[in-house]
Amino acid sequence: MSGKIIDGKALAAEIKKDLKEKIGDLKTKPKFAIVLVGRNEASEIYVKNKQKAALEVGIESVLYAFDEKATQKELENLIEKLNKDCSVNGILIQLPLPESLDGQALIEKIDVQKDVDGFCPLNIGRFECGCRNTLVAATPKGVLRLLENAGVKLEGKSALVIGRSNIVGKPMAMLLLEKNCTVTVAHSATQNLPELVRQADIVVSATGRAKMIKGSWLKKGAVVVDVGISRDGNGKICGDVDFESALDVASYITPVPGGVGPMTIAMLLENVLEAYLKQNA
Ligand code: NAD
Repeated sequence: MSGKIIDGKALAAEIKKDLKEKIGDLKTKPKFAIVLVGRNEASEIYVKNKQKAALEVGIESVLYAFDEKATQKELENLIEKLNKDCSVNGILIQLPLPESLDGQALIEKIDVQKDVDGFCPLNIGRFECGCRNTLVAATPKGVLRLLENAGVKLEGKSALVIGRSNIVGKPMAMLLLEKNCTVTVAHSATQNLPELVRQADIVVSATGRAKMIKGSWLKKGAVVVDVGISRDGNGKICGDVDFESALDVASYITPVPGGVGPMTIAMLLENVLEAYLKQNA
């Protein structure tokens, strides 16, 4: 058996095309602000990619870049200013922040209507209580869209989410639960990961452990979504899943790169448009 590769790049391109058309019909351009603190090579690349993609679809982005000495107060003041600025529809704090800063406190300062990353507790809590009119975190939202677009049936399936971060694992588990999967969440203290993987119809992995999940762990025909981004021993970008061995066993699998990554950006842009439309309703 050879699994079908889910092409995230192609789906993201379709979504961006659609967004561009919708945005082209608007009277003003949606706009979002990115707050970047310190020098982190990966963060700088992610920010550049987000701004480039925004430009492609007609969304304006403004970067507020600070050096690592930026204070909590300085950043709070900026967020308060952006919250009040009616021309700014979305605010995103690029993570990780330097350890001297309280990132959660800053996220909580963002106006929920402008929380295009979907990380504010109020947005998360509302979603968990069944409200569907909230901004949802881009990466898990993108994973769900990939699965639905591939025609994967979710209802009644057993889903394993590996990783429990606030930005990927936890919201992913909630989204799959909402789609009537039976969800298990594994993490770094989980004892029997290969056994749990073997029981799962759907595996979504977000650990950042290069090629940790082997094809031999998977149930035949499992659907595998790889969120992880790492480098292998040769410095090549790879995911959490050992792609070659998993491809033989899985029914569907996302590649790294070209799977979840492009969808995360497309979903962020979709969230900016959603925020703009709500603010201008
Ligand atoms: P994180 O470090 O906050 O969380 C990692 C999680 O993995 C933790 O909950 C931890 O308990 C779990 N974990 C670590 N080792 C494990 C093990 N051996 N077995 C089981 N669980 C284990 O990371 P994050 O922000 O959630 O990101 C995870 C990965 O996804 C990273 O590689 C990151 O670069 C990537 N990522 C990709 C995208 C994308 O768009 N493709 C978006 C966000 C994050």
